[in-house]
Amino acid sequence: MRPKLIVGNWKMNGSRTVNAALLAEIAAGLKGAKASCAVCVPAPYLHQVEELLKGSSIAWGAQDVSAYEGGAYTGEVCAKMLGDFGCRYVIVGHSERRAYHGESSELVARKAMAVLKEGMSPIVCVGETLAQREAGQTVEVVGAQLGAVLELLPADAVEKIVVAYEPVWAIGTGKNATPAMAQEVHAALRGQLRSRNAEAAEGVAILYGGSMKPENARELLGQPDIDGGLIGGAALKAQDFLAIIHATQ
Ligand code: PEP
Repeated sequence: MRPKLIVGNWKMNGSRTVNAALLAEIAAGLKGAKASCAVCVPAPYLHQVEELLKGSSIAWGAQDVSAYEGGAYTGEVCAKMLGDFGCRYVIVGHSERRAYHGESSELVARKAMAVLKEGMSPIVCVGETLAQREAGQTVEVVGAQLGAVLELLPADAVEKIVVAYEPVWAIGTGKNATPAMAQEVHAALRGQLRSRNAEAAEGVAILYGGSMKPENARELLGQPDIDGGLIGGAALKAQDFLAIIHATQ
């Protein structure tokens, strides 16, 4: 059985004071947890979070990265810098970046490669809009998004990526995909990973994201191809985040 992984996506939230209190409460409630967990935080707080979490069982990461290696790219943060702050994970291709920053699947794929090159794991987000779901295009849309990454990805690196299925219509809306809907897409994504590297595909964590909360986590996480969660709103409340982590047992 694949181990479960629960990742918090803090988005553009937090302050030094709030972060310290949130992480202290999460750390205090982790005893007995079977799942691995991580928090992906705003870049300015990476140093603080590294100081607070090093030596703990909670990993940390970033929410975006430049596709470039470094140099004259004002405002960008490269993968080497994220590695310098001990990041294990970097989210790439979140739907908010695709929608508000015009990120294409090709750019997302280059970002994923930049992350891998520095020894971290990209969390590659894919997901369809409501209109695409209603048009019956879900598997085609997420397949094209993942396909762009798999095209650049060496077969022996498949085992190092994490995939997150996040239906756009479920993010921050309170409406989650049903466990059956999510499982269907996760199974299709795993099939696609198998076609690149059959053995490695069995070990890849495919997370579900989109209004996962304590009330729906157990059923979603009970599906055979749902290996964890990428959690937005509920990751900002320690007790909700902990309840999701403990729902994996
Ligand atoms: C997300 O933004 O990755 C997410 C899953 O958000 P929420 O849990 O708030 O829907």
